[in-house]
Amino acid sequence: MDRYRIEPGKKFKLEDYSPNDTGDFEGKKQKGIELLAERRAEIDSLQELLYAEHKHRLLVVFQAMDGGGKDGTIRAVFDGVNPQGVKVASFKAPSQTELDHDYLWRIHAQTPGKGEIVVFNRSHYEDVLVVRVHNLVPKDVWKKRYDHINAFEHELYDEGTTILKFFLNISKDEQKERFMERLDMPEKRWKFNEGDLEERKLWPLYMEAFEEAISKTSTKWAPWYVVPANRNWYRNLVVSTVIADTLKSLNMKYPNPEIDVTGLKKRLTNE
Ligand code: AMP
Ligand code: MG
Repeated sequence: MDRYRIEPGKKFKLEDYSPNDTGDFEGKKQKGIELLAERRAEIDSLQELLYAEHKHRLLVVFQAMDGGGKDGTIRAVFDGVNPQGVKVASFKAPSQTELDHDYLWRIHAQTPGKGEIVVFNRSHYEDVLVVRVHNLVPKDVWKKRYDHINAFEHELYDEGTTILKFFLNISKDEQKERFMERLDMPEKRWKFNEGDLEERKLWPLYMEAFEEAISKTSTKWAPWYVVPANRNWYRNLVVSTVIADTLKSLNMKYPNPEIDVTGLKKRLTNE
């Protein structure tokens, strides 16, 4: 899945990444779904281990256009994990109190503690995406934010947080289909916002904003993955594989406290 990781410092072009790509799984959807089940099970046991070891922190960031599948991915990938150690933080338009602070204030407050996984459904990247597209702050203000973000994420990394960032890349046509479905299905209609159609008109501006954000903030310590997201099953497979592989690479171990197991068992038997 390394092919979807954006190399730091290299100019990255979204047009080189097809939302329809299914990599080595072209025509092998069934195999992909089976593998997804395996990855999920791996994530479940690795998350237990992360929690037990109480040493590492994992931050997973999701960004996408509306309908890109942020909610669905989070549900599919973290399906079986122990909710005690996993938290989802969703970032909406900032409140007045949040706006009274710097834009990273509300973000830092939600970052994971030791043993925890925190999933960001939207993030500080909104402050160089929607904020840029809608001129919510002047250009000379948002321009500086790429550097802030890199410094902020570097600090988290230096202090023991592993960071993964996923852009769920759908096509504009796919968004249209998903919006249609949302309108057609009563159990999905609540997700539809009239404002979503206005945002859709700004698609090219959003793509420019994503391209620049990803180019400038894909770093060694906090890489971006551009995930082909037109097919849900492949999107889920890519994300879960990256997360499982990353957790494995931490070489975690269950704590092995030095206790007198035989003695303790004897006491329990004889009580
Ligand atoms: P949803 O995720 O569909 O519930 O929508 C949340 C909305 O909040 C989206 O329209 C985001 O663009 C918006 N949002 C999130 N963060 C910010 C931010 N920092 N500034 C302005 N709007 C934001
Ligand atoms: Mg929405």
